[in-house]
Amino acid sequence: MASASKLFERVAAGRTCRDLWHPQFARCLAYNVHLWRTILPGSFKLYVPLLVLPPLVKLNDVTVRYLVEHTLQYVYISCCTYVQAALSLSAQCVLHNLLGRLNYWCVMFWPCLLGVAIGPPLPTQLLRLQAITFFNMSLEAAVRKSTVPIVQYARRSKALGTLTFMAFSAAILSCLQSGTVNQFWLVNPSPDADQCRGVCGHTGRCWRHLADGMLKYGTVGVVLEAGRAVLRHSGRLARNPLALFGRDFLAACNLRLGVFLACYVGIFRGVCCLLAHRAATRTVGHAALAGFLAGAPYCLHPTYQIYTLGLTKAIEMGWAYCGAAGKSDGGVVDRALQHLHRWPMLRLVQMCSFGYLGHVYAFYPHVSPIFHQKAMDVCSTDLTLGMKRRIAKWLAEAL
Ligand SMILES: [Zn+2]
Ligand SMILES: [Zn+2]
Repeated sequence: MASASKLFERVAAGRTCRDLWHPQFARCLAYNVHLWRTILPGSFKLYVPLLVLPPLVKLNDVTVRYLVEHTLQYVYISCCTYVQAALSLSAQCVLHNLLGRLNYWCVMFWPCLLGVAIGPPLPTQLLRLQAITFFNMSLEAAVRKSTVPIVQYARRSKALGTLTFMAFSAAILSCLQSGTVNQFWLVNPSPDADQCRGVCGHTGRCWRHLADGMLKYGTVGVVLEAGRAVLRHSGRLARNPLALFGRDFLAACNLRLGVFLACYVGIFRGVCCLLAHRAATRTVGHAALAGFLAGAPYCLHPTYQIYTLGLTKAIEMGWAYCGAAGKSDGGVVDRALQHLHRWPMLRLVQMCSFGYLGHVYAFYPHVSPIFHQKAMDVCSTDLTLGMKRRIAKWLAEAL
């Protein structure tokens, strides 16, 4: 089988950006004026959940000032996304006109990367959110796309997935326990607990601490899954609210996320308490062992989302830990790491992941994450969707 790039270059020979992107506009300029004028509402639509959900979660603490700032942030991120999307789309024509032909990597990959690179910068918090989301999605796409036998084996092997997830979990919890890194994870080992709380670092009895965590996390998991099921069946529920109690809906509610979360926190807290009582102190080693064992329930609910979250968090926290630990004047590795830490890593990850996701979107739609596909279609008012369909048609005709 010819490689995808060869095949594309063959079918694209003699075709222009007009054939691929804008058959209804004879000239690139007219098309670009059209897209800059029309795609703005798409970005505002994409971030509506970001506008609506946080105030709903805060509910009691919502002030007028918060609402104004929150809305301004929503407007800013929507405008940023609009500019990025429009720049990416314009770059498609620009690169085609520069090269004089359609090039495999100059369709989507470079234009998407450039659009994000040239576009206005996001506030750090949102940049982090976007970089991690893009990175997780491109990891998922890369794994699903890969034809390398070992990757394919790893993708299907539950044992290997569980074992590596346990390792990520151990790495994350030892970083958190060390106190040099303070980031969100499923559980928090509270390294700064004061001594009066006893050797385990929590208030109250151990069994209560354990049961409390399992109940809380289990409930969160069940609520999240129920919310997802409601979203998935929203059309049917709107027509008949009683379908909420029907068999189909209950079958769509998956209890496994709740069980996974409850087991994760249960094992972690249980092992931590046991080790702390035996050694009469708490160490990073304890947190690592407890984190490793707590990762085992992953086999009950193996999903790309949980796995990539674990992997990304392990990388991110390990990176932050090295940055904090590498301040002493060490050897070549330490100095190289320190040098790398000056790079704008989040921005680079965001740019490259977005370029790669665009590439997968166009040429490997069957492995492209659904959320990314929807986001692209919404932000470009289906301009990318038309392009994707044209590529699929050309390739089908060539085969
Ligand atoms: Zn054009
Ligand atoms: Zn305890």
